[in-house]
This record gives sequence, C-alpha cells and structure tokens, in this order.
Amino acid sequence: MIQRSASLKREALLPFWRRQMAACPQTRPNNRQLDNTQHEDPRTHEGTGESATGSRRQADKGPKRDESAPKQREPDGVRPSRKNTAIAQQKPRGLARKDKRLSTGSWSLLRSTFNVAVVGGGLVGLASARELVLRHPSLTFAVLEKEKELACHQSGHNSGVIHSGIYYTPGSLKAKLCVQGAALCYEYCDQKGIPYKQCGKLIVAVEQEEIPRLKALYERGLQNNVRDLRLISAKEIQAKEPFCRGLMALDSPYTGIVNYRHVALSYAEDFQKAGGTVLTDFEVTNMEMAKESPPESTEGLKHPVVVRNSKGEEVYCQHIVICAGLYSDRLSQISGCSPEPRIVPFRGDYLVLKPEKCYMVKGNIYPVPDPRFPFLGVHFTPRMDGSVWLGPNAVLAFKREGYKLFDFSPKDFGDAVLYSGLWKLVSRNLSSGMNEMYRACFLSAQVKQLQKFIPEVTINDILRGPSGVRAQALDSEGNLVDDFVFDGGTGDIGSRILHVRNAPSPAATSSLAIAKMIAKEVEERFGL
Ligand SMILES: Cc1cc2nc3c(=O)[nH]c(=O)nc-3n(C[C@H](O)[C@H](O)[C@H](O)COP(=O)(O)OP(=O)(O)OC[C@H]3O[C@@H](n4cnc5c(N)ncnc54)[C@H](O)[C@@H]3O)c2cc1C
Repeated sequence: MIQRSASLKREALLPFWRRQMAACPQTRPNNRQLDNTQHEDPRTHEGTGESATGSRRQADKGPKRDESAPKQREPDGVRPSRKNTAIAQQKPRGLARKDKRLSTGSWSLLRSTFNVAVVGGGLVGLASARELVLRHPSLTFAVLEKEKELACHQSGHNSGVIHSGIYYTPGSLKAKLCVQGAALCYEYCDQKGIPYKQCGKLIVAVEQEEIPRLKALYERGLQNNVRDLRLISAKEIQAKEPFCRGLMALDSPYTGIVNYRHVALSYAEDFQKAGGTVLTDFEVTNMEMAKESPPESTEGLKHPVVVRNSKGEEVYCQHIVICAGLYSDRLSQISGCSPEPRIVPFRGDYLVLKPEKCYMVKGNIYPVPDPRFPFLGVHFTPRMDGSVWLGPNAVLAFKREGYKLFDFSPKDFGDAVLYSGLWKLVSRNLSSGMNEMYRACFLSAQVKQLQKFIPEVTINDILRGPSGVRAQALDSEGNLVDDFVFDGGTGDIGSRILHVRNAPSPAATSSLAIAKMIAKEVEERFGL
C-alpha cells in the first residue's frame, strides 16, 4: 500500500537539476580542476539563454562578457550568465546539503495511476517522458528510477561529446537521429542556458594505411549530411591543434561538448513542470496485469498494468516505455518479452591530463576508428570543467554498474558467461580483447597509444580518472548490435510495452531526436 505525502508535492516542483549536479561525484569539481587556468576558447557558448540563433551568433563571435558576473575565472574558462550561475559557480557544499532532501528521502506516491510509466531516469527515459508530457498535457506520466538520483549511470558517466554524426551507416537510425539530435541538443542548450562548447573535433590518421579509411569516413559523413566537414593536411592539423601530429585529419567543427548529466536533469525539470511525476528509489522488479483496481481508484481497471518495485510498492498504468540502459534485457525478461538481444557491459576507463598539461588539447582529438568495433577508440576530450579526459578503453565488465577494475557481480558474471553470444564474440576478438585488458592495467601501454597523436604526453602528465560502463546489445551469434533498437512484445502486458533495447553512443547526443521517435511510436502503438 502506498502512502501519500504532501512533501512530495513540494519537492516535485523544485528545479532540482541544479542541485543534483553538485551532488554527483563525477560532476563535482575538485580543487585541482578549479585551479586550472585553461585557455579561454573563443568558441565557448556561455549559456546566455538567448534565442538559438542569437546565441549561436554570439558563440561565433566569442564569449559575451557579462560585466555583472564575478571577475574570478571559472574552471572551464566560461563566465556564467545569470541564468546558469548556480552551475558555473559550482558551490558544491551548499548545493549538496540542499540536495540531501531530494536524494535520501524515500518516495511516497502522490498518485499511483498513470497513463504511461517510463522506466529509467537516464537521458533516453527522461527525454522521452518530457516529449510525451509536452505532447499530451492532459495525460499522466511517471518516470520510475531505481537510484536515489537521476542520470547516474551511462548518462552521468560519458565523454560528454555532442557528436556530429560522421561514423554511422548512412540510412541507419544512428545516423539520422544523431544528426537531428545534435542540432536539437544545441538548440535546447541555447534555450535553457546550459553551457556547452562547440570546440570541434579532428579524426586524425597517423599511419598511411588509415588514410583510405579516413577518406571513406569523410564520404560517409557527407552522406549523413554532417555540417562543415573537410579533410585537412598535416600543416592544418598543427594550426588547429599545435601539439597534435598526424598525416591527414577529418575536421568536424560542428562537434561540441556538454555535461550530459546537466542536460538530463534539465529534461527532468521540464517534465515535472509540465505535470510529470518522477519517482526515484523505485526499482522495478515485476510487471503484471492487475487482478483488481488500485485501492483508491474509482475508475475500475482503467490502468490494468501493475508495476511493482523491490519494496513492494505499486503503480498502475496503461502503458510502459522501458529505457533501462544496462538492464534493458532484464526488464524485457521481467515483462515477459524476449531477453534477446542481451546486454553486455563494457567498462571504459578514462585517464585525465594533469591540469598544468591541459593546454596541449584544444578540441576533441580522435583516432580513425577500427571498423570491426563499435567503439570509437581512445580519444582526447576536453570537458566543460576545463579538464581533459583521455580514453575510454573498452574492457568486458564483470558487473553491469561496476565502475572499478575489480567490481564483480556473480549474477552479472554468470549471465554473461552462460550466454553463447558472448563466447562467440570473445573467440572472434580474443587478441584485441587481451590487448585492451593489458592497456587497462598498464598506464604505459595507454600512454603509447596517446603518444601517436600527441608525442609530448608522458606518463608523468596523466592520472587515472573515472570510468563508465556501456550497455552494448549482443545477439546470440556474437554480433554487437550496431544500431539503436526499439521493440514491443506480445501478449497482454507485452503489447502495452515499448522497449528501448539498444541505445549506445551517440544516444546522449541523439536523446531529443530519439524521444521524438519514441513519442510517435507510443502514439501509434498505444493510440494516445
Ligand atoms: C563511457 C561512455 C562514454 C560515452 N560517450 C558518449 C558521448 O560522448 N556522446 C554520446 O552521445 N553518447 C555517449 N555515450 C552513450 C550515452 O551516454 C548513452 O547512450 C546514454 O546515456 C544512454 O542513456 P539511457 O537513458 O539509455 O541509459 P542510462 O543513462 O544508463 O539510464 C538507464 C536508467 O535506467 C535505470 N534502471 C535500470 N534498471 C531499472 C529498474 N529495474 N527500475 C528502475 N530504473 C532502472 C538506471 O538506474 C538508469 O538510471 C557514452 C557512454 C559511455 C558509457
């Protein structure tokens, strides 16, 4: 039985994304980073909250000075506009204290019936819930999230790159939604005053044999309608990135960076303002057709699906959208739908450049990707806080949400090793898998990779950084599923569910475009 609480109403109205930003460990600045006096990038967008075109024009000219802002330099070289002072000034102490109210209280439910419940409070779930409530303000929506805070897994542990859409097979969902999503992401950040930097990206060929692949990538980017792409010479590489060496590069000035957790929390705020309900600390463990109506209901079995959490609390709904990232296969199984494709977790460890060495990297520097793998290879990524991350690598994780090298879950490990698809994948990629493991353990091996691009980088310039775990779908033949996958099920419950089965990178970039697609699909399938 679910209790009602008046305090929930008050909390539900709080613009909590600003406070949650400071509470999340990987977004909290450390002193080292705050001391960083990185170059000011003229392409920095300040998040002025101006109209999209106005702000972009400003970004082209260079950062607009806000004379009312404190003179102190911000960690990312950005002077905050009034609108995003709370984030840019980064006052972790006070903010974290306030945030406790939100993150530690267990939720009591204001209402327990919804037209649609969205499971998963990451970028994809929140963007989809936001899109649905904006399109259907008269219906009721809830986001159910197992953690006490939102966007704590993939959406809060990623490279933060706004991809321009170069890599993906022309005509694929990834290609289409990434190109649309990047434009929507910039527009959204402009509207909301969320800081980003359109700092560009170079994909650099360092070996002769990579040049044909680089040229093919250029053609692919053109087919995908990626903006402003061009191939540049070794001399031009040095003009853009003075410390980077290469034979030829693909220059993508449209690529940018943003703090995606910040974006996710802003989606949540929009959702709540439009009347949506966010229930954190709600781990969905069971879904079934209701045998009777909810206790307080006067509408009979209007909401026939009962969704239960690990504490036995229930919500009733008509339809469910599942965006559970690393657990999307488990949730599919729980709902009686197919466990295939399975999710295989790949951990990615980052290194960070010491603050005094961050001057060596201006924009994103990427290798020419190996076409056999879905991951983009170890890259240099500037962050919004002024730090520079190097990586991530890709090693099989023994725990789905295990962010440390030796994190282990018997269930996750057991599931993985009993899956024939994994063995087929491992047998086909044994040597590259072992190499990745080796590089994960030995810093010197990773540095060697990085020196191919910036020879000056030494082992003394880097520190171990955070990690992320990617949810990568794998089929029973051992093939990594390349594109985004959305599907439904059959039967009483299955036909009321839409599953997001595979939403790997660039799903953060694409989240607003994915949300539009999901909303359309929900409308068509469920007749909203
Ligand atoms: C290392 C790394 C680097 C990346 N870099 C980039 C990048 O630079 N650019 C880019 O565009 N993309 C990038 N990505 C990809 C991007 O971050 C993800 O594709 C995106 O965040 C996926 O969002 P999501 O909502 O599907 O998943 P998640 O963010 O993982 O959210 C899923 C949510 O579901 C919740 N959940 C799971 N099970 C349950 C349950 N039973 N009940 C309730 N809730 C549940 C989880 O707690 C979680 O909050 C990167 C990913 C990683 C891991």
